[in-house]
Amino acid sequence: MNDDAVILLSEYLRIDTTNPPGNESKAVAFFQKIFSQEGIEYKIYEPDSGRASIRAILHGSGKKKPIILLNHMDVVPAEKQEWSVDPFGGEIKDGFIYGRGALDMKSQGIMELMAFLEMKTIGRTPDRDIIFLATADEEAGGTQGIQYLMENHAKDFSAEFVINEGGFGISGFIPERPVFMIATAEKGLCWLKVRATGQPGHGSVPHGQNALEKLNAAIYRLLSEKSAITLTPIIQTYFNNIGTAWSFLEPFIKDQKPETLETILNQTGLIQMPQISAMLRNTISLTQIHSGDKVNVIPASAEATLDIRLLPGQSLEEFLHQIRDKMGDENLQLDILTQSEASTSPPDTPYFQLIEESIKQQYPSALVTPSLLFATSDSRILRRHGITTYGFCPAIIDLPEIQRIHGIDERISIESLISGTSLFKKTVKKLCME
Ligand SMILES: [Zn+2]
Repeated sequence: MNDDAVILLSEYLRIDTTNPPGNESKAVAFFQKIFSQEGIEYKIYEPDSGRASIRAILHGSGKKKPIILLNHMDVVPAEKQEWSVDPFGGEIKDGFIYGRGALDMKSQGIMELMAFLEMKTIGRTPDRDIIFLATADEEAGGTQGIQYLMENHAKDFSAEFVINEGGFGISGFIPERPVFMIATAEKGLCWLKVRATGQPGHGSVPHGQNALEKLNAAIYRLLSEKSAITLTPIIQTYFNNIGTAWSFLEPFIKDQKPETLETILNQTGLIQMPQISAMLRNTISLTQIHSGDKVNVIPASAEATLDIRLLPGQSLEEFLHQIRDKMGDENLQLDILTQSEASTSPPDTPYFQLIEESIKQQYPSALVTPSLLFATSDSRILRRHGITTYGFCPAIIDLPEIQRIHGIDERISIESLISGTSLFKKTVKKLCME
């Protein structure tokens, strides 16, 4: 059965679902074939040609409310010439399965599928309906996927609990203990366009009204100072949990003061880790600048885009005020291109406990903690509908491997896939039969 996971993932990775354009219908056909063979009830939703999602259901006794195993089928583009293997070749070598989506998140899709199919083979009626849902368009915001589904077919997804992407088991973070992050929250997002205008002119006669220079100076002022540290409740819990393994966090465990944590993170240099920094701050990344098209012409306008991520509980309006103040140029025009609020599910639920129990069954020394996803996922839409949603991928990944997500030579080890599949089966069984 475990080898099935490897074969299926390799096959699944060969389906090119690069978004845009997505072509998720091809991946839907892959799942449809399996559900038909197994005699499992399924439904396909296709808001636009090629942009399909699929839902399969195992009916339970109704003793408990339904749960959803959620995964997205689309992947971000891969620059083939940068890769050492074909990103859509599903190649297996040196104990790894390679391909765009190997971590984000076709592997979890297969683990969910295997756990779902296992519940059918057990031959006992589960206590609740189990829904397998593979969506389109997550990587581009979900308009053709989860947003469409929740706006038009919400009754098909009236679940009490959802497992989605967002948290891995990590090795190499704490010596000899895997750390399982369960993402109970994710950051908010705001994409902002900043526009400067000035006077055009000949490059040989600088006049101090150069739009690009104005923009450049304002962005420099903005980015030369990091935003302040904020200790949100979820990150407080996170460091309290990690503190059971990192003894240098002891002073913070005792007094729970944000300034104590900040001092420790500074002293240990941990604050320099981009991931630790992003847990504690609203972040800004400068991602695009457009201006000018000739080397000897002073441009009349210049535009930059900023990718802003906000911690849960933070006001976007207030943060935009701070941004304006730091840039120190009131003539700049700021336009919000897109935004979405941070989303949170409570971490103190029976679901969390059950997941933790199943992890500890397989890895007695594991450290399990709620965590915050920095990016956005389909979870935010479900949380908006009041559904408790956790990001939980039961595979253990080596810390450096995480860099391959959206990067080059994305891969998952066969061992991680097999042990992750086994843990996913335990978890779903616990949620539905015990
Ligand atoms: Zn993803």
